[in-house]
Order: sequence, then structure tokens, then C-alpha cells
Amino acid sequence: MHMGTLVSITAVGRSHDEANDAITAGFQEIKRLEQLLSTWISSSELSKVNAAAGQSAVKVSLEAMAVVRKSLQVAEMTEGAFNIAIGPAVEAWNISAEPRLPTPEELAAVKPLVDLQSVHTDVWERTIYLEKPGMRIDVGGIGKGYAADQAVLVMKKAGAVAGVVALSGDIKTFGRLPDGTAFPVGIRHPRKEGELLAELDLQDEAISTAGDYERFFEKDGVRYHHILDPRTLQPARGCQSVSVIAKEGIWADGLDTGIFVLGVDRGMDLVEQLEDVEAIIVDADGRIRVSSGLRNRVRLSKGSGQ
Ligand code: AMP
Ligand code: MG
Repeated sequence: MHMGTLVSITAVGRSHDEANDAITAGFQEIKRLEQLLSTWISSSELSKVNAAAGQSAVKVSLEAMAVVRKSLQVAEMTEGAFNIAIGPAVEAWNISAEPRLPTPEELAAVKPLVDLQSVHTDVWERTIYLEKPGMRIDVGGIGKGYAADQAVLVMKKAGAVAGVVALSGDIKTFGRLPDGTAFPVGIRHPRKEGELLAELDLQDEAISTAGDYERFFEKDGVRYHHILDPRTLQPARGCQSVSVIAKEGIWADGLDTGIFVLGVDRGMDLVEQLEDVEAIIVDADGRIRVSSGLRNRVRLSKGSGQ
């Protein structure tokens, strides 16, 4: 378990030892990044940035800077639907621990803190400053994809010729299986536990899925989940699940969360504009939409309802 999720790593090497070394290196890299990026760890760099909100800029590693800068880019691409300043709202819902319905007053009180204009990055000094006291950045929507990318880099350095790094639904593959085939991956059905929605093969690509079934609770027949619309600070309602395929995990992960908030129409428009980015979206009614570049690649399951 790392970054709050189950991590599994597979490697293909020229020898058993080489493959094993690559797997060890991959796990170590994920552990190292967790110490920088996780806001569950109070000594992490991003926790220090959060603790200094309204007071001072905090020096961070290249890695933390890269994740925050790319998060701001994803925010721009998704017109603010992806917003790492969401931290105080995520805390108000507390969906990962003891979920509760925050009152409208509570949400109104944290709304001014969910403000990306008040996140200042200084690339030259390599510092991050949150302007308002109480602000918190949370890279939970993008960090796992980045960790998968970085784990693949160290695995290649350790000699692996192919492999898969999976932080639950954030998966990055490189190379091919020893028999020459690409790595098959499955996408979970958002409403049928234990069933697949679709399968496809990946080569030197990442896939990331954001779903309303990952962390949620139900109250009075309403499902409340962990992906929040930054405008309302309520769970986003447009989709059941969004899977994004991209060359890099950081884009796949950032975009799945942002597109989940944008909803199926605006989300698909964005995917079609971006090169090397594809998506499978299940809308709020369970209908499946597949982007144009994926139609010949994806195998929808019989039970997918389509
Ligand atoms: P993912 O599983 O990639 O969809 O990421 C979900 C996580 O991203 C949540 O648990 C929150 O920590 C964070 N999050 C929730 N809503 C947003 C949002 N609108 N923008 C960015 N991050 C978010
Ligand atoms: Mg994500």
C-alpha cells in the first residue's frame, strides 16, 4: 500500500534478477515520491507548503514543483474543473475517513480558499506559496499517475525491458510481453462489482480511471463521492467513470479527474482536441462514450450494457 492505494508492479527483464531489481527500484521510487507529495504525511513537502499557507513560501523538490506546475496546466485545460486548491473542501467531506455531509455554511466558508489564483509557484527559486491562511493543495487527483511515470523511469534504468506499474486504477505500461503482445488492461464496470466494462491493449501508454465508486457513501439514497466540483464543492454529477489513455500517467490522471467534473460532452470535446489522449466515459445514466481514436482498439464487455 502506497499513496493510499494498492500498488502492483510487473517487470520483464533479461534475467530473473534484473526483473526483480527493477521491481524493487520501482517500489522505492513510489515510496520516495509519497514522502514528498502525500498530504497525509505531515512531514511531506506539500504538507509543509500547506502548513505555511498565508505565511511564507516553501522550498520544494523538482518533483513536487513538476506535479504542481502540471496540475496548474491541467486546471487551465479543463477551465478550472481540475483544481488542486480543493483541499479544504475535501477535508470538509472527509470521504476517505469518516464521511459526513458538510453544511452549506461550512462549504461557503471554505469556498474562498479553493482559489488557484492564490497558488504561487516560483520556478526559479523553486518555491510554492499559498496566499491565504487555511488554503491546502491536494494532488490526490494527479499524483498517482506521476508516481507511475517515475517508477517506470527507474525500472528502465534498472534494466527492465518491459513492465506495468499499477497504483490501483492508475496504470502505466512500457514495452511488450515476452511473447510480443501488448499489455492488456481492463476497466472496471462502475456499477457491477467484479465485472469489466471494457478491455484494451496498451504499449508505452498510461491509463487512469476516476470513478464515483472508488470512495463514496450513501445517504437518503444519494451517492456522495470523492470528486468534487470546484464551483459547488459538491460531488460532480455528470459521470460514473472516466478513463483516460495518454502517453504519460500524469496527464491521464490529471485529466480523468478534470473530465469527470467537466461532464461527458465538454470532456469528450477536450479529449478530441488533444493529441495522443483518448477516453472512455460512462455518463450519469450509464451510457458509454468512446473517443474516436479508441473505437477500433477497445473491446466492450458483453455485460457493459451497450
Ligand atoms: P482521482 O482518483 O484521480 O479521480 O482523484 C480523486 C482525488 O482528487 C480526490 O480524492 C481528491 O483528493 C482530489 N480531488 C477531488 N476533486 C478534485 C478536483 N475537482 N480537482 C482536483 N483534485 C480533486
Ligand atoms: Mg485523477
